[in-house]
Amino acid sequence: MKDSNDKLMDKIISLCKRRGFIFPGSEIYGGLQNSWDFGPLGVALKKNIKAEWWKRFVQNREDIVGLDAAILMNPKVWEASGHSETFSDPLVECKECHTRFRLDENGKSQAPSTKSQINSPPKADPPLAGNGQSGKCPNCGKENLTEAQDFNLMLKTSLGATEGKGSEVYFRPETAQGIFVNFKNILNTTRKRIPFGIAQIGKAFRNEITPGNFIFRTREFEQMEIEYFVREDEWESWFTHWLDQIKQWNVDLGLDDGDLEYVEVSEDERAHYSKRTVDIEYKFPFGQKELYGLAYRTDHDLKAHIDVSGEDLKYMNPDDSKDRFVPHVIEPSFGVERTVLAVMLSAYREENISSQNSNNQAPNNNGAEEENDVRVILKFPYWVAPVKVAVLPLMKKDGMGEKAKEVFDVLKLEFDCEYDESGSIGKRYRRQDEIGTPFCVTIDHDTLENDSVTVRDRDSLEQERVAIADLAGYISGKLNK
Ligand SMILES: [Zn+2]
Repeated sequence: MKDSNDKLMDKIISLCKRRGFIFPGSEIYGGLQNSWDFGPLGVALKKNIKAEWWKRFVQNREDIVGLDAAILMNPKVWEASGHSETFSDPLVECKECHTRFRLDENGKSQAPSTKSQINSPPKADPPLAGNGQSGKCPNCGKENLTEAQDFNLMLKTSLGATEGKGSEVYFRPETAQGIFVNFKNILNTTRKRIPFGIAQIGKAFRNEITPGNFIFRTREFEQMEIEYFVREDEWESWFTHWLDQIKQWNVDLGLDDGDLEYVEVSEDERAHYSKRTVDIEYKFPFGQKELYGLAYRTDHDLKAHIDVSGEDLKYMNPDDSKDRFVPHVIEPSFGVERTVLAVMLSAYREENISSQNSNNQAPNNNGAEEENDVRVILKFPYWVAPVKVAVLPLMKKDGMGEKAKEVFDVLKLEFDCEYDESGSIGKRYRRQDEIGTPFCVTIDHDTLENDSVTVRDRDSLEQERVAIADLAGYISGKLNK
């Protein structure tokens, strides 16, 4: 059973807080404008997603190398990329209450920055219908608005002891530019040949006017991006390649194909230099919104950096020195937090287990599954789950606690494990279901007799008796299947 409305968001947000996935940022001080902190399970979940992405697109491929560029970059970077000039929203301010908001073409207030966090600067917004805005403030309702002014979405800070024009820098609004400015360094040190790509995972910052929808739009977020450099006449086949890669990634995340849409962005809505862009959209409870992006950026970025820096960023074919050119670029772009949200929404289930279990009563379930009729479960793909195995003594007494600790100490060397001995076994199973743990290992009276344990499967609820000596192999066999 899957909720398709806002209730699902409320449930996810509450589960995230209750179980330690995601907390409101700076909560003891009343929070800070839709900032969020990832708790023990949230950071493990993010780590799994980023590690798999890196393994798949960097480690397992000969044609992609990694990079970790600085967040603060020379401001000239943003001149070259166009962010200084065009990365802005037109805003009006209410002179009464000083609320700032964005106007749409009809002069009505709306949430700013409808364009996603993962795309590069969109084409400039259409001109507003007249200046010296008439209309009502959405906050106080009064009609006393300033004229529309461009508000740059880059977050500013200053370097060094002096504040002022000369020391102003920006937190990068995307990771991509760090890749372009290192193109020559990487070419020279890795001797990669076209086609090849550079991948980066890192934080980016955008001063969104109204962030919102939980972790969907935040001012601080993490991107996983690849700039893939190709010859111009090969861009179409590489674009298809990357679209297929994104589709496979979505399958492996457990996202339902029916919740995804691959939207061709029309020429009007594309950045002016892009010849093809596909928005990968997910049906979030608050609407169908961009999850990932794939853009053919032509040779726009490197050319812009050649112009502004004066450096020669051409690629030279090592086998043919006459074969020199500015490479074209395909950019697959993934948001980490949006991935986390989509994965959690897709994995969330409420199951009525009394009916499911009645003709499937496991022989040795320790009487645990009958306590509640409904269980909440995050059916993560195994590789995504923050905890793979929970080790649970049926009771603390009779040496079961000690025995369970021994089992835990072995398993933790190989798997993300959790040890839990507090509360009834049924409650502990529920907790593990709620955080998506694929396997629960239970140490019971029989364990003390014959060194075997039960392994409970999250999805089928079946329990199997496994010898402790075989346990690690049994679990890794299941996890890797
Ligand atoms: Zn107002």
